[in-house]
Amino acid sequence: MDILTETKHLQNRLDDLRNSQMSIGLVPTMGYLHDGHLSLIRKARSENDAVVTTIFVNPLQFAETEDLDTYPTDIEKDTFLASEAGTDLLFTPTNEEMFCDDVLTTVSVQEISTVLEGASRPTHFSGVATIVAKLFNIVGVCSAYFGEKDWQQIQVIKRMAQDLSYRVEIKRCPIIREKDGLAMSSRNVYLTKEQRKQASHIPESLLKAHEKIIEGERQSSVIKGIISERLDRSSAIDIDYVELVNGENLSITDQIDEETRVLVAVRIGAARLIDNMNALEGLNL
Ligand code: AMP
Repeated sequence: MDILTETKHLQNRLDDLRNSQMSIGLVPTMGYLHDGHLSLIRKARSENDAVVTTIFVNPLQFAETEDLDTYPTDIEKDTFLASEAGTDLLFTPTNEEMFCDDVLTTVSVQEISTVLEGASRPTHFSGVATIVAKLFNIVGVCSAYFGEKDWQQIQVIKRMAQDLSYRVEIKRCPIIREKDGLAMSSRNVYLTKEQRKQASHIPESLLKAHEKIIEGERQSSVIKGIISERLDRSSAIDIDYVELVNGENLSITDQIDEETRVLVAVRIGAARLIDNMNALEGLNL
């Protein structure tokens, strides 16, 4: 695996690969890699001739009150893990490399960026869309791998790629979970031992809701109630939202069908955690 920090070096390498008819898989991350990230790299490895993993803690997607300054990093471990999982080119640009000046041009995807995560984090998805657009422009024709843990992010990126005619195929990868069902996240490290225990209420609440759906319940309000009640049992958990929406356009769903996605966001101590599932399929444990 080669480590590259300069855009033009990465592009030269990618031009050479493409001239040899090699397909390219792109895995954008903010580092502090865990098995969720590695599952994306492995999938990219299995479907492409060459894999580019990027590690960049993107300042544009953090609000001023958020955790940009404390976001965990461990580049040595990441380098080892990314290589083991099958990365060929690891792109780790500095801030200056990505933004040589003030950013005057941004990308925003209307409507679907303003609900759910977007309601709590109004500038977040514009930051995500802008950096992903940059990465798509830098890397060029490729397949790009994203985790379903950030369900809304995938919809925003899919829509951006479609609207702006990127020659990038967006690939979705399932959520990888800890033993107790908690979705893996770099931010889980913010949890104290006790908070970490409480965090298992999140997947538990989704499991409980899914049981009820399997039994035949189709009213979103009932399912929302079950999840909220379960989460409220923990005083450590502060619910941001529990919502049932159409998985593609993110519009609120009253009656559950096969496209319904259940999304949850909570705060526990210093961590803001999200999770989601297809209402009929449930969690992949
Ligand atoms: P991040 O470093 O948090 O920006 O995540 C980089 C990519 O990894 C995104 O596409 C995430 O959705 C994905 N990802 C993060 N956690 C998981 C997980 N537990 N399972 C699957 N994908 C994940």
